[in-house]
Amino acid sequence: MENRKKLVIVGGGAAGFMAAITLAEAQQNIDIIILEQGNEVLGKVRISGGGRCNVTHACYDVKELVKFYPRGNKELLSPFFQFNCEHTIDFFESKNVTLKTEDDGRIFPTTDDSMTIVNCLKNEATKLGIKIILQAKVMQISIEEKFEINYNNTILKADYLLIASGSNNTIWNSLKSLKHTIIEPVPSLFTFNTKNNLFRDLSGISIPSTKIKIKESAFETNGILLITHTGLSGPVILKLSAFGARFFGRKKLSVFYFNKLDKRIKRQGHN
Ligand SMILES: Cc1cc2nc3c(=O)[nH]c(=O)nc-3n(C[C@H](O)[C@H](O)[C@H](O)COP(=O)(O)OP(=O)(O)OC[C@H]3O[C@@H](n4cnc5c(N)ncnc54)[C@H](O)[C@@H]3O)c2cc1C
Repeated sequence: MENRKKLVIVGGGAAGFMAAITLAEAQQNIDIIILEQGNEVLGKVRISGGGRCNVTHACYDVKELVKFYPRGNKELLSPFFQFNCEHTIDFFESKNVTLKTEDDGRIFPTTDDSMTIVNCLKNEATKLGIKIILQAKVMQISIEEKFEINYNNTILKADYLLIASGSNNTIWNSLKSLKHTIIEPVPSLFTFNTKNNLFRDLSGISIPSTKIKIKESAFETNGILLITHTGLSGPVILKLSAFGARFFGRKKLSVFYFNKLDKRIKRQGHN
């Protein structure tokens, strides 16, 4: 009898699906099961890119691409040589999803609908015989002769285990108990809220070119700033929050100061 191996993937998000499909395409002699705690898979992909799913970015030079990653850019170099924007485009086009590149380099399905991507991934998984179990919350993982994955008090044994659960404390604790080291997570990609919002009266205004610098640090970004009723947002802030994430996490800081912003506001007559 054929000795088939079993791979369990924890998490039915973009990472879990891409891993399952890539492996199933490369290796037929393996049973793949995705365990997803929610009622549906690919929930985040559905809401991504404002419901359009920004699939990838038209940056074809891997050395340039890694510069967009605040941490781990050296480590990402080798994986990106193996799978980058071009491979992402080929992957979807080979599955009859047509993509378009917008002026700013963002790449979306031509349908402008994230469900095109969700359905593509779900259909591929079905075609490849990948089993998906919904409402299957993994509580604990142990290693005996094989991996033993406890979900809803059912034990599933697997030869291979792939964790694609996004940010999830239960899984991190389980991995710690297996002697893995987890680097403490910190928030990233957040907007800046202030208690006394000096700019409240300007909320809704977007300033196309600003330079924002974090005091007592080397973190500085340029780009579009959006003033909101609670503080500051827009690409320049999101980028700064990502690049300075560990700094903010360590300092528990929400202090920032503006360089050029005040002058710009005055120049535009918003004072
Ligand atoms: C509003 C928004 C817009 C975005 N837009 C874009 C975009 O346009 N383009 C882009 O590239 N990225 C975008 N992103 C980021 C992108 O959505 C994420 O990077 C990506 O979805 C992460 O995929 P993942 O599979 O790693 O994690 P997730 O999508 O978080 O998937 C993890 C899955 O694991 C499941 N899970 C967790 N714990 C357990 C457990 N114990 N047992 C079983 N299952 C478990 C979760 O329910 C979840 O379904 C956006 C994110 C947000 C929030």
